Amino acid sequence: MSGKLNTKRKRKGIRGRPIHISGICPRCGRPYSFIGKNYYVTKDGKIKEYYYAYHREKKRYKRCYLGPAWYSYVTLTHKDANLTLSGYINDKRYEEYKEKIDQYIIHRIKSKEK
Ligand SMILES: [Zn+2]
Repeated sequence: MSGKLNTKRKRKGIRGRPIHISGICPRCGRPYSFIGKNYYVTKDGKIKEYYYAYHREKKRYKRCYLGPAWYSYVTLTHKDANLTLSGYINDKRYEEYKEKIDQYIIHRIKSKEK
């Protein structure tokens, strides 16, 4: 095994720091070596980050797209609940959704009572 190369890649990542060291890829179900981050700049100057799971295969990496940190387009239709839909990379997304949805439901019930 070329452990030396692997260690170097793991530390540096590909365009940025690896976030998780290992885990199971939600796209293909295989274990990944790390998750790498990439970004692009939108027309209005915002930086949009997105993530890949990198699978080590012999001397190369194959990657699976994991989506952005948060979904701007889908979030537009959830503005009334102040809900930002997150990508796979956010471990706490379901807790955050639940909190926002609970707040929204309580708000709706209270506004109906008036
Ligand atoms: Zn994968």
